[in-house]
Amino acid sequence: GDGVRLQKVLAKAGVASRRAAEELIAQGRVEVDGRIVVEQGLRIDPENAVVRVDGTRVVVKEDLVHLALNKPRGWQSTMSDDLGRPCVGDIVSERVAAGQRLFHVGRLDADTEGLLLLTNDGDLAHRLMHPSYEVSKTYLATVQGVVGRSVGKTLKSGVELDDGPAKVDSFALLDISEGKSLVKVVLHEGRKHIVRRLLEAVGHPVIRLVRTDIGAVALGDQRPGTLRVLGRHEVGGLY
Ligand code: URA
Repeated sequence: GDGVRLQKVLAKAGVASRRAAEELIAQGRVEVDGRIVVEQGLRIDPENAVVRVDGTRVVVKEDLVHLALNKPRGWQSTMSDDLGRPCVGDIVSERVAAGQRLFHVGRLDADTEGLLLLTNDGDLAHRLMHPSYEVSKTYLATVQGVVGRSVGKTLKSGVELDDGPAKVDSFALLDISEGKSLVKVVLHEGRKHIVRRLLEAVGHPVIRLVRTDIGAVALGDQRPGTLRVLGRHEVGGLY
């Protein structure tokens, strides 16, 4: 018949050896298009089937690349820059085979540091940037002034910006020192300069901004200017 055997698909996606994949199937831990599959040898369309193991999506498309970049401050998020400024494309071109088309998932301001995802899956890049796709992003911001008790409440209930209301999902004050505060902000949306504008709106202009997480992908201790191949679970979480 058509399609590829499920255990082969799982093995190819790096989930387990083919033998171990058969075990997973027998144990009822593998789901295809929302249904647990326990019989062996089911043939699926690897490009279109939604496969999960223990609830985590397994990406079975071929030849996909998913990278995490720690974008340094001062670099453009783009793959090329008409003005010749340093850009993400310069970092990537040293690491990725010529001719491979990578997309950056959304942007960070040149002045913002931290996690930027890169992929050759144009559909994914597009979808993750769409406002209706509710991937949460976490930022650490160093701001001017001593952040008071009411700031978190205000940001969570929402503030009015030039282009409409905006709010954060969570807010935490982590540190205060020398008239500056370190805060952690989690939000879903991706409007331009959104974190800077939100913090400015509550009287705390941003001095330094770092994105630390996108969904289940965390920057961790990855050094600025370096690329990292996402793990299987991280990739699965994006689809
Ligand atoms: N919000 C900002 O203000 N800047 C970024 O780069 C990302 C989110």
